[in-house]
Amino acid sequence: MASRSKKYKHLFFDLDHTLWDFEANAKLTLNELYYNLDLLSKGVGDFEKFYEIYLYHNERLWDKYRKGIIKRDELRWKRMWLTLVDCKINDEELAREMGVRFLDSLPTRTLLFPYAIEILEWLSKRNYSLHLITNGFEVTQYSKLRYSGLEKFFNEVITSEASNSLKPNPEIFEYAFQKTGALPGDSLMLGDDIEADIIGAQKAGMDQVYVNHKNIDPPFEPTYTISNLKELENIL
Ligand SMILES: [Mg+2]
Repeated sequence: MASRSKKYKHLFFDLDHTLWDFEANAKLTLNELYYNLDLLSKGVGDFEKFYEIYLYHNERLWDKYRKGIIKRDELRWKRMWLTLVDCKINDEELAREMGVRFLDSLPTRTLLFPYAIEILEWLSKRNYSLHLITNGFEVTQYSKLRYSGLEKFFNEVITSEASNSLKPNPEIFEYAFQKTGALPGDSLMLGDDIEADIIGAQKAGMDQVYVNHKNIDPPFEPTYTISNLKELENIL
């Protein structure tokens, strides 16, 4: 690992799966839907199985969305519909209702990764300028920040909607530099996604921190790798 460096002024965080525990929050939300909509009596079966099928479809549809193959509305209801179809329930109306209710409820969840608040406080005290670069939807991401108490830490929130681009495309990083006055050389990108965050930032000329909560072997060497957020104290 490279040694502690004073050269960084701007820290660009990813939100989902980096600070905000997306998986835990999504699972809670789906579990609530499962009980509120009485999916068991509709024939969906065991929740854990239902959740597993959902994860499979959600991941595949997100990949298509990132590649521009499908639009966001399609992503929102089709992940529910395909999950229901796999459970032998062909009910588009129910799928659309689930899609809407899921997105209404998810951003109000507040589960963060360990040390998220502590490290943001620590970094703020050290006068780093903190920002977010996120591929999520604008309204959704702002709700997450507000409910989970993260909003106050960030100067600029760069979303794919506002920048008209998605990580790992260079346009969203260029937009972020313009919006914040940061330079690639004094900026650090922190995220969990090898392609979107790490390779994207590398191509934009920034150093990167791979936030490796799941302890998987990255396919190449990011500037830094951490397995929990507190380890940032060793870098910054
Ligand atoms: Mg992420």
